Amino acid sequence: MIFYMRLSRYFLPILKETPHDAQIASHRLMLRAGMIHQTTSGIYSWLPLGLKVLKNIENIIEDGQNSIGCNRITMPTIQPAHLWQESGRYDDYGKEMLRMKDRHDRDMLYGPTHEEVITDLARGCIKSYKHLPQILYQIHWKFRDEIRPRFGVMRAREFYMKDGYSFDIDAKSARETYKKIYENYLTIFKNMGLKAIPVKADTGAIGGDLSHEFQIVAPTGESTIYYDEAFDTISDANRNFDTLNNLYAAADEMHSEENCPTPKDKLKSARGIEIGHIFYFGKKYSQSMNFTVIGQDGKPIHPEMGSYGIGVSRLVGAIIEANHDDNGIIWPESVAPFHISLINAKPSDEATTKLSDDLYAKLTHSGIEVLYDDTASRAGAKFATADIIGSPYHIIVGRDATENGLYELKDRRTKDRTSLTFSQIMEKFTAKTVAK
Ligand code: ATP
Ligand code: MG
Repeated sequence: MIFYMRLSRYFLPILKETPHDAQIASHRLMLRAGMIHQTTSGIYSWLPLGLKVLKNIENIIEDGQNSIGCNRITMPTIQPAHLWQESGRYDDYGKEMLRMKDRHDRDMLYGPTHEEVITDLARGCIKSYKHLPQILYQIHWKFRDEIRPRFGVMRAREFYMKDGYSFDIDAKSARETYKKIYENYLTIFKNMGLKAIPVKADTGAIGGDLSHEFQIVAPTGESTIYYDEAFDTISDANRNFDTLNNLYAAADEMHSEENCPTPKDKLKSARGIEIGHIFYFGKKYSQSMNFTVIGQDGKPIHPEMGSYGIGVSRLVGAIIEANHDDNGIIWPESVAPFHISLINAKPSDEATTKLSDDLYAKLTHSGIEVLYDDTASRAGAKFATADIIGSPYHIIVGRDATENGLYELKDRRTKDRTSLTFSQIMEKFTAKTVAK
């Protein structure tokens, strides 16, 4: 779906002042660019610009998961406590779980994760080894009552997550599934312009024996990670499970100096933002919740399971942490809310306005996503707004357009400026759309 908009009609509450309570760049910029609005601690409304980016990220994840045969579903956000009592996690999960009662005094909760609900669903629908392997996923809202919500959408209480769950007949098949999803995650993150490092992780509250966190390096990250410097240089073609898993990379709690196989001079330590987390946990839930399928020999078997998360709303912040400068956001093209910010630099002039309107019509007609600043603000303010919003390209229609037929094109990332004719602009951007 192509989306374009005139700024005069857009709901974009830009903040002039830097919000004083926002500690990191992505939080400040998301507030300044009018992407989110805080309703209460750790709980946000997503405004049109933020929602557009969230949906772009969601689409990349959905395309990626579907390409390896995963099936998208949606599960309820509100869950009955009895499923968690069955798995044995209800008492252990602690205060991060938001607990409530319905009118019949039954214990309910707002889902912080969905292993129990999916296991219950699977035992109702998957009856035979013939239906395995299967990977089901959803992209939906979670609630965790984080003790210290902070950094905007990075550590929120209500947040948007992709959570997937795999079912296999035996451990060998389950490990193949795990590898397939690991590699799928590398592709998904690459398609957002991110180079993720999969680090060996603790299996924690979910339990099990194989787990990786996908981290991106950023000074504002909350995790500490250790990794072989080879991760920085390895080519995309070599980024597969077997190669990467043989290189040392570990989350803080998994790392020990004595047992580290990587020599000190090749070991890097950095701050990381966790954007995904995958687990293989075997029969933990299929056993505790008594989920069996009929095996080839006619006997019941507890399937092997794994779970696979991506922090969709956290990614919006993480991508900004990795892509911004002093003036604002610099969106990677694949997630940008708009491809072009079109600026009418002399809105009081009829000829300039006509050229701007024409270019807007032609670009949008060609399927290009344009945010058209048709407001009465002065040019300087418009440039500043365009920089904060961070569309990859800005086109400025001013005196050079009316006098010489030239439009100024600015590349937001490199800051390069070139003057192009109308047909050069159309050629540049329509060729791009076709190539996509
Ligand atoms: P963290 O260690 O950051 O609390 P987690 O291990 O609790 O993460 P998972 O349960 O594996 O996270 O959830 C999957 C993904 O959801 C995480 O990799 C992260 O990207 C995202 N996520 C987790 N908690 C939050 C939160 N409070 N706000 C935003 N995103 C989150
Ligand atoms: Mg957590």
